[in-house]
Amino acid sequence: MVNLNPEQEARSITLHKRAFVVEGHSDYLAEATRLRNQGETEVLEKHHLPSLLEGGVNMEVLTVGCDEPVMDITNTPLKVVKVLDDVHHELQVSDKFQLITCYEDINRANNAGKIGLLLALEGARPIQEDLFLLRTYYRLGLRQVGLTWNQRNLVADGCGEGKGGGGLSNFGTRLIEEMNRLNIILDLSHVHERSFMDAIEVTRSPPVASHSNSRTVCDFPRNLSDNQIQAIADRDGTVGMCFFGSFVTKDTPTLDALIDHVDYIVNLVGIDHVALGPDYIDYIMDLMQAEEERMQERGVDYGPLKYVQGLETVSTLGNITRALVAREYDDKDIEKILGGNLLRIYKEVLK
Ligand SMILES: [Zn+2]
Repeated sequence: MVNLNPEQEARSITLHKRAFVVEGHSDYLAEATRLRNQGETEVLEKHHLPSLLEGGVNMEVLTVGCDEPVMDITNTPLKVVKVLDDVHHELQVSDKFQLITCYEDINRANNAGKIGLLLALEGARPIQEDLFLLRTYYRLGLRQVGLTWNQRNLVADGCGEGKGGGGLSNFGTRLIEEMNRLNIILDLSHVHERSFMDAIEVTRSPPVASHSNSRTVCDFPRNLSDNQIQAIADRDGTVGMCFFGSFVTKDTPTLDALIDHVDYIVNLVGIDHVALGPDYIDYIMDLMQAEEERMQERGVDYGPLKYVQGLETVSTLGNITRALVAREYDDKDIEKILGGNLLRIYKEVLK
């Protein structure tokens, strides 16, 4: 763990409270829909609000669908519409969260002391080959689209396709153009390097890689090469630090090892391009472990699912601020990493 002197401890606590903290990638909604299908309601408030508040989170990027059939909930248009309907009901029965559809919503949510929810797709498979589906999801609140999960779809190739991976399809180009027109954020995590670079050429908006680390620091297929990180930075985007051990190091995933990724990216492209994309699934770890074998057949071996020590749940998020303080980042730079950099993108894109 991180050792701080009393003055640094006090500074970390104040800073983390003051900062606008964005959890840049999470799957709470698949779990919410699973529990709602069993008859529960107010799942976000009952199951997640306490730990989100403890972690000092101000805004969440939540997936409403994925290329993968996570818990058999996420990968078809019908299932995505069900998750979206569930979110809207969750928002109706709880006044602790607010849907974010434009930048002003972020200020409104913050002023009302609510946690903002930005809705995202993790892979474009639920869009099939029909832009009307993208527009329909948009009208229901979708504001971010990742092009792929680890495999190939009709839009692009995922990083799990390895040497056989190719570039963006013609439909992929049309999809990004429509996303630009609608002001939907482009997410390039999971995308194969060739498709990634094609997408960077096409988009007119700053992209995010919502949950990926540095492949130079830790050679893992889901991490980004220096060229990819540079390309994101050149388009004024961000790379969100993922807290899964396999993304961080081949050894024990310590906080120090995670901050090595932050240091590396900051040295490569500057402080304005690092964000947080923890990808917490600790609350469904047993269910995800049951899916581990299926996931390993899909091109990327995630190894044992465990988190960076000290960052095991969202309630412990304050420890990343402590670790950045220990690494002598100043307050302004830590605030950028915790959420300020993503706010810059939201201001630019979510018009
Ligand atoms: Zn992912």
